[in-house]
Amino acid sequence: MTEVDRRDFLRGAGFATAAAAVPTEASAAIARPPKQISPQAVGMLYDSTLCIGCKACVAACKEANKMPAEVPATLTGWNENTWDSAEDLSGRTLNVIKVYRNGTAEQKDHEINGFAFVKRHCLHCVDPSCVSVCPVGAMQKDAATGIVSYDPDVCIGCRYCVYGCPFGVPQFDFSSALGKIAKCEFCRHLQKDGKIPACCDVCPTGASLFGPVKELEREIERRTAAAPGTPYQFPRGKIGENRPPNAATIPTYVKGVYGEHEAGGTQVRYLAGVPFPKLGLPTVGRQSPASLSEGMQHTIYQWLIAPLVAFVGFAFLARRNLALHHDDDAPPSKEG
Ligand code: SF4
Ligand code: SF4
Ligand code: SF4
Repeated sequence: MTEVDRRDFLRGAGFATAAAAVPTEASAAIARPPKQISPQAVGMLYDSTLCIGCKACVAACKEANKMPAEVPATLTGWNENTWDSAEDLSGRTLNVIKVYRNGTAEQKDHEINGFAFVKRHCLHCVDPSCVSVCPVGAMQKDAATGIVSYDPDVCIGCRYCVYGCPFGVPQFDFSSALGKIAKCEFCRHLQKDGKIPACCDVCPTGASLFGPVKELEREIERRTAAAPGTPYQFPRGKIGENRPPNAATIPTYVKGVYGEHEAGGTQVRYLAGVPFPKLGLPTVGRQSPASLSEGMQHTIYQWLIAPLVAFVGFAFLARRNLALHHDDDAPPSKEG
């Protein structure tokens, strides 16, 4: 290799390596921004201070979604098989009411020596991780309503959604022969017929309230802006629906609205009188994990492409130098 050839080779190789190694503006743009909520998104407001723990929503959910009862192994003897008392979300339970208690547990919605209820089910994330991690598209988010649905016919039972959800919602149904996931779908089968989710329809106090997210946000603003003790007509069922409201007074809410920012925002929002972590609601950051992981994946793919670009650069230059050497070795052509 001549000196000029070597310089050409090194310059070319350096260019190829640099081009491959330095992230460009285009690659930075690959990290996708979080998805935004649809203007037509529907959601739920669960106000823990209105919840009386009757579990009518749990029973109605089971009936509406044809889920079997759960009987804990601790129920034996005369009361065996007599009570549906799901203790947590499972392959048979899409919606559960849990209880926080402290000390003497005498006062409702008090952190100390008090108790409070909390409802757990899918929060229908604005930018859902379950949809992002599902390799076959069994989890889908409706572009208009934002409902996150599940298709058991597409599901391959990999359980990525179980591990990907920051709220611990999807449950694997071990009793299913082919394996399937259980999670709330906002009773979309009922909504098709103009009905509302069963849990909100049956809730006697309006603790579970359904409606467009925009209207639920206005309702949250009204409640949190009013002074504790102010008489208030709490809507029931679906916001804006002509149902007799629950006449009560504004409670003392803890600061914040759970679900407003968590994991990039969710379409289920919580108000409570006890701090959200005490109610067992996971503390998650504001960044949507889906946007983060998809951004990282794209970056990793980009960096996998980088060595390939370098290799192609080296291969091209090596081939060109080989051709030059062949030309050097060739007998001089006779000039006629
Ligand atoms: S709460 Fe979990 S299961 Fe529900 S949409 Fe969000 S990521 Fe999916
Ligand atoms: S929306 Fe339907 S599936 Fe979801 S918790 Fe309520 S009743 Fe159950
Ligand atoms: S039906 Fe309403 S009040 Fe009863 S447990 Fe469910 S959310 Fe609470």
